[in-house]
Amino acid sequence: MTRFIFLGPPGAGKGTQAKILADDSHIPHISTGDILRAALKEKTPLGVKAQGYMDRGELVPDDLVQDMVKERLNQDETKSGWILDGFPRTVKQATFLSSLLQELNQSQVKVINLDAPDNVVVSRLLERGRKDDAEDVIRRRLEVYRSDTAPLIDYYQQQKLLVVVNGDQSPEGVTTALKAAISS
Ligand code: ADP
Repeated sequence: MTRFIFLGPPGAGKGTQAKILADDSHIPHISTGDILRAALKEKTPLGVKAQGYMDRGELVPDDLVQDMVKERLNQDETKSGWILDGFPRTVKQATFLSSLLQELNQSQVKVINLDAPDNVVVSRLLERGRKDDAEDVIRRRLEVYRSDTAPLIDYYQQQKLLVVVNGDQSPEGVTTALKAAISS
């Protein structure tokens, strides 16, 4: 069973590490940010609705993202495992996910909290320079992370599903720490 949920602030390296782990385990890497950016590029109805929120560093409304994840987790290729990156981001999304996984008989998961201090993530995001990586938008994404997403750390800790990995080291160092943490 390989089902992982990646938590952590923007810029902690979730995308990079989730991709490595997914390739290694031959399972899909499901990044809600990537799916939304693709929708935006193709100007689908979802992309059009999401754009303003993303440009401002706000969360896209729960219902939109939840529908997207439900559709993805109902696809056959996710039966043998998956890595969720960027979802859930609110307690509402987390309770939605938990009932969805129960329905799908996929409740056995581990949650990786990839953590790094604010100054580190801000400088990484500024270097990356994505459209939503302007300094004021980064600050807003961090605020939203602290207020809406960080409570999920406690939420999953209480369910004894949480594994903490230090994201404040080289990408290779994080991969090593991550592999050690999930194999123990
Ligand atoms: P990062 O973690 O680097 O900020 P992501 O690629 O995960 O970037 O997300 C980019 C943007 O996409 C977010 O700022 C938000 O607007 C939107 N988004 C992604 N996932 C979600 C989600 N689960 N709920 C709401 N909005 C989301």
